Amino acid sequence: MKKFTPNYYAKNIYEVSADFYLKHGIKTLLVDLDNTLASYRELEPSDTTINFVRNLEKAGIKVLLASNNSGKRVKRYGELLGVPYISGARKPFAFKLRKFLKEQGAELSSTLMVGDQILTDVFCGNTLGVKIMLTDKLVEEDQWTTRINRLLDRPLRNKLRAKGKLKEWNEDDRELKEN
Ligand SMILES: [Mg+2]
Repeated sequence: MKKFTPNYYAKNIYEVSADFYLKHGIKTLLVDLDNTLASYRELEPSDTTINFVRNLEKAGIKVLLASNNSGKRVKRYGELLGVPYISGARKPFAFKLRKFLKEQGAELSSTLMVGDQILTDVFCGNTLGVKIMLTDKLVEEDQWTTRINRLLDRPLRNKLRAKGKLKEWNEDDRELKEN
């Protein structure tokens, strides 16, 4: 279960404040796009998303976008949001993201990956050796490729929850991996 266990859990990325990241020594956020930051139908970032990201940057936190989705979708969204991005990231594999983080000058120890899927995001983050925050999916709707993963995600999530391994980000400062 270790590879599937995140350090933190949040309902969504928008509820987590910059202060939390600063307090935990996080300098880089490696953020999943679809159903973490936006619905896959949202082709352009909303004002809410843009303001949210600018606010993090103002606090000194670097935001990077990492998506398995196609080049066109991620490029457009990433450019409009004004953050470095990688498409076709091949999560749960870590090799492309490792290279991307290096290019961006991000240290693994101060990077937190945020994503809505255990099988891709959490597993990948644990392979990479970064901290991970798992979220619920932002909207109900998924792309068909993701729907298959959801069938496996749900029971895993229930199991983690039952074992007390989904620790709310603001519950306390204890990190799951130390248990
Ligand atoms: Mg996602």
